[in-house]
Amino acid sequence: MKSNSSVSKVAIIGGGLVGRLLAWRLIKQNSNIDNGISFSVNVFEKYSLSPHSSQNDKAAAFTAAAMISPMSELVASELEIYQLGQTSLTLWPHWLEQLDCPQHYHQQGSLVLAHPNDIGELQQFQRDLSYKLSEQTDAETVHILSDRQQLEAIEPAVHTHFQSGLHLPSEAHIDHDEVLQQLVIQAEVLGVNFNENCTIEPDDESLQDYDLIFDCRGMGLKADLKEQSFRGVRGEVIRIECKEITLKRPIRLMHPRYKLYIVPKPNNQFIIGATEIESEDRSSISLRSSMELMSALYAVNPAFAEARIISQDTNLRPAYMDNLPRIEKSTSAFNKPIVRINGLYRHGYLIGPALVEKAIEKAMAASL
Ligand SMILES: Cc1cc2nc3c(=O)[nH]c(=O)nc-3n(C[C@H](O)[C@H](O)[C@H](O)COP(=O)(O)OP(=O)(O)OC[C@H]3O[C@@H](n4cnc5c(N)ncnc54)[C@H](O)[C@@H]3O)c2cc1C
Repeated sequence: MKSNSSVSKVAIIGGGLVGRLLAWRLIKQNSNIDNGISFSVNVFEKYSLSPHSSQNDKAAAFTAAAMISPMSELVASELEIYQLGQTSLTLWPHWLEQLDCPQHYHQQGSLVLAHPNDIGELQQFQRDLSYKLSEQTDAETVHILSDRQQLEAIEPAVHTHFQSGLHLPSEAHIDHDEVLQQLVIQAEVLGVNFNENCTIEPDDESLQDYDLIFDCRGMGLKADLKEQSFRGVRGEVIRIECKEITLKRPIRLMHPRYKLYIVPKPNNQFIIGATEIESEDRSSISLRSSMELMSALYAVNPAFAEARIISQDTNLRPAYMDNLPRIEKSTSAFNKPIVRINGLYRHGYLIGPALVEKAIEKAMAASL
């Protein structure tokens, strides 16, 4: 990076979740006059920046349910994810305030349920979670809802055959379509230049004038990697609209074969997701997945039967073999520093803010 009081020219490749968060955070630093560095930021995105893009390999960010659920994820993931998630839980509300859209942050917790027949799955989840949380000094609380009354007080729309559950009160979710759009709007106001429909690689000659390149291509990285350490994990979701039912928070349904969720979205919409299949097949949702997702929904409340299906979507979660994210430094063919942020897997919204802060710190420390 250049000397104090000069402008560093930054290229961000990929305008999905990480690229947008990074662009906005970097340009925000221009208002921090103390560090004497300012940035000019260019984002290069292969497709349209609109969440309604119909491209088959569009950003995973658009397909996600955008839950910020460190505890729910703790049972099946590493402690690192929980810790990054806890940091992000504190960052998101501040960032959405600064982005002028605090209404798109919802911290009502999440609810974990199981059918009476699958109650063993819920008990096992509770045991695993308690064990993992017992290793944490600052562990969050889990509320055990042991009867129908307690459950109904939290989420009245849940069907009467659910008699118990877990409430994880610190968890949150965001209205991701709106937030992704707002990130672009606010970053542009501060001077970020977004280039849509522009495919570029970190070694591209056109980037030789840049001082620093951030590689945030998600699945786009796959083309570069010879080794088999990076993969996409298929996920299928259905978006519905249902005016008859209100849910305040995401509901996770424990089941021996799948773990499904229903997440409320603006305008009486809900996302039901998500399958998790070790495949890079991006073709349409299968009949089986569609039926399983819809029956989970119907089980939570049969009034969902009148819901209208808005869309069914498939995408790939960008993941390394250990399902952990990486921030890696290298140099381009033109000897320019590259910082690559990837492998956010099923945790982009959960860990994105914390990871972006780390990446900026790492890039600055290396370049100053
Ligand atoms: C079904 C599903 C549900 C999910 N639910 C959740 C959830 O509830 N909570 C959560 O935390 N996470 C969730 N995720 C995960 C989350 O969506 C991802 O972790 C996150 O989007 C990864 O962010 P990213 O910026 O690395 O990749 P992406 O969001 O995929 O963005 C990468 C961008 O790079 C662009 N690009 C690629 N190659 C190039 C190139 N050569 N030049 C220019 N641009 C390029 C792409 O077009 C894309 O826009 C879910 C994912 C899926 C698929």
